[in-house]
Amino acid sequence: MTSTKKGEAPASDPSCIFCSIVRREAPSRIVYEDDLTLAFLDILPLSRGHTLVIPKAHVDRITDLPPAHYAPLLTTLSKVCQRVERLSRHYNVGVNQGALAGQVVFHLHFHVIPRYPDQPSFPRHRTEISDREAQEVLSVLAAP
Ligand code: 5GP
Ligand code: ZN
Repeated sequence: MTSTKKGEAPASDPSCIFCSIVRREAPSRIVYEDDLTLAFLDILPLSRGHTLVIPKAHVDRITDLPPAHYAPLLTTLSKVCQRVERLSRHYNVGVNQGALAGQVVFHLHFHVIPRYPDQPSFPRHRTEISDREAQEVLSVLAAP
């Protein structure tokens, strides 16, 4: 990780998959983007429309996020939630922080996970999103 001044997020981590997505070196299905934030579909969705919201700057933990990024990130989270409500008014918003809490990707991200009456619990085994499902979901979520 590059060294930074106190309170300043490192721009990018070369070994981080989400930084690769931000740099467009890894593929993703983008729901929303602005200067400081990005939202994209989870590759192994827990439900239809499962979306991740991240700061573009590489920080592992919410406690590392510089305060200047709070409002942009929460604004994007709220925007994504508004769009997810096109699919369902019921959803979970969550952050896994630390390996014991289930964090696998160590670049801060909010999960937005729609819930549906015909899927009362999350699947035990997650399968990669198909191109078809991704296109269908993006047609709803990526529209302004
Ligand atoms: P965590 O367990 O760290 O909170 O969640 C990481 C999430 O990132 C998981 O839901 C996982 O499916 C998702 N994920 C991991 N690698 C990729 C990737 O390369 N692309 C996308 N779109 N999602 C990813
Ligand atoms: Zn990163």
